[in-house]
Amino acid sequence: MITLNKDYSELKSQIAYTKNYLNTCFNSLEVYDYMELYKSLKDATRKVELPFMWDFPREQWEIYKTEEQRDKYLKKECFSKEELFLKEYLQTTHHAIGELLDEIEDFRDDIDGKEIHTFGVDCEEPEELLYEFLKEEDKVLKEIYEDMKRYKRIYYNKVNLDAHAIYNNLQKIPSIFIPIKSFDIEDVAILIHELGHILDNTELCNHSMIKSHLYPSCSIYQEVPSYYYEQKFLEFLIENGKYQIDAQNVLLDNLEVLEENIKRDIKTISKKGYNSDNLFDSIQYSIGQVIAPMIDKEITKSQFSSFQCDYFNHNKLEELGLTAKNTSNCYIKKMKNMIIR
Ligand SMILES: [Zn+2]
Repeated sequence: MITLNKDYSELKSQIAYTKNYLNTCFNSLEVYDYMELYKSLKDATRKVELPFMWDFPREQWEIYKTEEQRDKYLKKECFSKEELFLKEYLQTTHHAIGELLDEIEDFRDDIDGKEIHTFGVDCEEPEELLYEFLKEEDKVLKEIYEDMKRYKRIYYNKVNLDAHAIYNNLQKIPSIFIPIKSFDIEDVAILIHELGHILDNTELCNHSMIKSHLYPSCSIYQEVPSYYYEQKFLEFLIENGKYQIDAQNVLLDNLEVLEENIKRDIKTISKKGYNSDNLFDSIQYSIGQVIAPMIDKEITKSQFSSFQCDYFNHNKLEELGLTAKNTSNCYIKKMKNMIIR
């Protein structure tokens, strides 16, 4: 049984530790990063939003603001340079998803009412399947999960309905927040997605300071590793005939959300003076879902790590063959294989 922790005392001590550290810290990059960490930890433990900068002396807040402005500027710069390419990327994917959704609808109409024998027996507990998957697919992810369970770092999210992960790179402590009480297959897929974020952040932190500081706010590829594990888990279920319909429904929901998001983002890019911050957050999810199936197929994990910390740069993607057409073809092929069987 996965028991979600409702005791937030470890989080509170992380908040106190981070605050202490920040009060004596004058490295602007660190202030920037740990202000974000402090804010996320505080947000995760309370329902009412308070202006967190009141907790700090003015100097820290000033450094933070300069870094934040630089970050916003860089995102804007990166978008205006790559806008055309990004638009093409999104449009190609959007078109392909539209066609796939039509095909899925026809397929579902076709099988409607017929008895389906291909779906497996759903007798195992979702958590057993999680273990089976981790044992077969990823030993490192399995260790992370076991540690998080042992130290009770999978929390019940009392604040809102979004599952999320926080990696405290100051003390090297991961935390995951899940807004439900009992786990079905979709929730296990969400948990694996969040474990993917923790694994990704742990690996980056072992590499270099700059990567671990700027990655969460500056890289557009942040959702790629987490979707990679989520899709791998759903594929594992479908291939083994376990909770096949549930797994296919999760994929279909993801597809429909992606289609909506991309439609909105294409519209946003077409408007002059759009808010690049909101667009950045939204595009992270689209890019994440679409590029994830390319890993292990078209590119290796280490090729992905070679550009995952950078701003969006189409030359690098094209060098590796991740053009709009290739990427969306690969994504659609994978979804089709999994949903229409
Ligand atoms: Zn995510």
